[in-house]
Amino acid sequence: MFFQIFYSSHSFLILLLLLTAIIGDYIVDHSKLHLHRALFDNITHALIGGISWLVVCMVFRNRYTTQTLAEIALCTVIASCIDLDHFYAARSFHLKDATNLKNRPALHCSTFPLFLVFILLLIAHVLHERWLLRITLIILTAFASHHTRDAVRRGYWFYPFGSTQSISYTAYIALTIVIPYLVCLMIKFVGIQQNSSSQFNVDIL
Ligand SMILES: [Zn+2]
Repeated sequence: MFFQIFYSSHSFLILLLLLTAIIGDYIVDHSKLHLHRALFDNITHALIGGISWLVVCMVFRNRYTTQTLAEIALCTVIASCIDLDHFYAARSFHLKDATNLKNRPALHCSTFPLFLVFILLLIAHVLHERWLLRITLIILTAFASHHTRDAVRRGYWFYPFGSTQSISYTAYIALTIVIPYLVCLMIKFVGIQQNSSSQFNVDIL
């Protein structure tokens, strides 16, 4: 009975993630005003980020409600704020300038979060700081979901190696669903590593 509830709520979240992506993209594509397109595009990024971390929390059956809500909020905010670098790169607060850049802005370079996450994971592992590990994986989830959605138009950008081809819409949807589970695998891996080297608790989340 318990597992039934767990798995049903789990598939409900995957369905929610799927629908958020598809409906969000549909609204963006059918918005006529530039402002509406940018707004709905950003809301979709934010929601996908938040729901992705909710899936991670559900897989690990996080029991700390306030902490879970704060983490979901953090992932939502990071997934949304990545697009602020459009304004920074344009040196302008005008939406038209921000969305008409010649080059992709820095936070859209996938090498940056990969490097940052690697460094933070290393620090978290050495210092045995579980809160830092959680925040690092929240950052990874937010960037991975955001970059995957943007990759439909422009591919992934791995400076200095260049960019990949644009990915198909099906690949984007599939990756969006897979990302939270990849993060869960990382949590399990890091948890097992810590457990074998010290008396660190395997229940990371
Ligand atoms: Zn973006």
